[in-house]
Amino acid sequence: MKIRLVTQNIDWRAERLNGVTNADWERWAERELGADLMVLTEAQVRPPRAFTEAGWTVACRPGGFPGTSGWGTAIVARGVTIRQFTRVGQNEQYELDTHFPGTLVAADVWCRDTYFATIIGLHLRYRKNKAKKIISDPLMDIHSMLPDFKAILADRQAPLIIAGDLNVPLGDLPYEFQTLATGELALLDPFAQLNPMTFQQRDGGARSKLDYIYLSRSLARKVIVRRGGINDFPQALALSDHAPLLVEIDTDLTSSICDCGAVLQRPAGNYATKTRCPNCGQVAQYV
Ligand SMILES: [Zn+2]
Repeated sequence: MKIRLVTQNIDWRAERLNGVTNADWERWAERELGADLMVLTEAQVRPPRAFTEAGWTVACRPGGFPGTSGWGTAIVARGVTIRQFTRVGQNEQYELDTHFPGTLVAADVWCRDTYFATIIGLHLRYRKNKAKKIISDPLMDIHSMLPDFKAILADRQAPLIIAGDLNVPLGDLPYEFQTLATGELALLDPFAQLNPMTFQQRDGGARSKLDYIYLSRSLARKVIVRRGGINDFPQALALSDHAPLLVEIDTDLTSSICDCGAVLQRPAGNYATKTRCPNCGQVAQYV
């Protein structure tokens, strides 16, 4: 089975700026992205009717970020089943997303009847106070939120998908975050070498990479399609100031991922157990 995962900041406020609605974006995504599972940041979350009406299951914190006009992060699914959770641990005593409410949305992902992974939709913001002065940065916030990630990992002990508007490359996140998961669960950025620009100021100014997908190694090695950013989806800028990232994960694939990050796919009919990485020359084992 193949699962198409997308993340995008859909800038719901664009509705007020230029009349683009969630429904317009949903139709565009359906036509252009063909996703089964999406993390949407700056989506309308009261709840996002454009998605529920189109048959998507939605996980979100109703109302999104407190004090906003009802926008936040939504995980939406159609080809797979998602079950949102807000508490983990023994007797579910640990409540998630209490540090900066609205920042983290979590759900388990099931393909048909099989548990596949746990997905975390994350929007690490430069938070502002009432006077619109910036009072935090993503690195400070993720540091405070480490207990949430630790609690989820300890509870699920399963492959993780972390996606959203993170503003920070994996390699710049705190060491404690980068090393939270190890071995097969260790987090990798499947776009690290491609570095797609996902944001452009509406005035046509500088582009930057603000959106990320981090995958546990066991998922990253099964990525067969990677597309993303403004170069791959230039039409996205008609609907938002961000462009999507898209990966397709083949859950049946036998492949490997080199230490250098290159995905080594075993061609059909090839029964080799090892291969030489065309990127760095190292010998890697198929798993
Ligand atoms: Zn390599």
